[in-house]
Amino acid sequence: MLNIVIFGAPGSGKGTQSEKLIEKYGLYHISTGDLLRKEIKAGSELGKIADSYISKGQLLPDSLIIDLLAKLLDTTPETRQGVIFDGFPRTIPQAEALDTMLAERGTAVSAVIGLEVDEAELIDRLLKRGQVSGRSDDNLETIKKRLDVYHTQTTPLRDYYVENGKYKAIHGMGSVDTIFVSITEALADCK
Ligand code: AMP
Repeated sequence: MLNIVIFGAPGSGKGTQSEKLIEKYGLYHISTGDLLRKEIKAGSELGKIADSYISKGQLLPDSLIIDLLAKLLDTTPETRQGVIFDGFPRTIPQAEALDTMLAERGTAVSAVIGLEVDEAELIDRLLKRGQVSGRSDDNLETIKKRLDVYHTQTTPLRDYYVENGKYKAIHGMGSVDTIFVSITEALADCK
């Protein structure tokens, strides 16, 4: 069973490559950003909290996100066929919690796909997406804040996964299909 973490800065192509990975490997897609945006749309209590963080480009508290994930894993039998985690984990405590949650369910992270993209390209892609996404956080001020948060809170995770041998660096520039080929090659020896 494959459990893949797709890792990279905002705008690195996590969502796009996730769609292709789901199709090829039949994985269940968990995007914490999508889950939170659904809560915001539904006007739930969690949605109200999420909105206040997302619109400022800040991360939600670890405990809220970890609880959301644990509930989803418990109530979604399809996740036992393998999952692609998109936008989670984003901090070391989240990565540690994920290891524990998967171990309790008799499984583990198989590989971490790290999409590596230049900063100027990230900003360019996010501004372009902002013209069609309607997302409150795809504007220049919030994009800069999100990249800042990524560098301070999320990049330490790269070392966490390099150290445990799970990190696969992928050059994330170029065509969607070329990048996908690099990902499938990196996953070739994963179970
Ligand atoms: P994304 O769609 O993955 O870019 O996430 C959009 C926003 O949702 C982020 O900027 C955070 O405010 C929030 N978010 C998504 N995933 C997480 C997470 N794992 N931990 C904390 N906040 C998150």
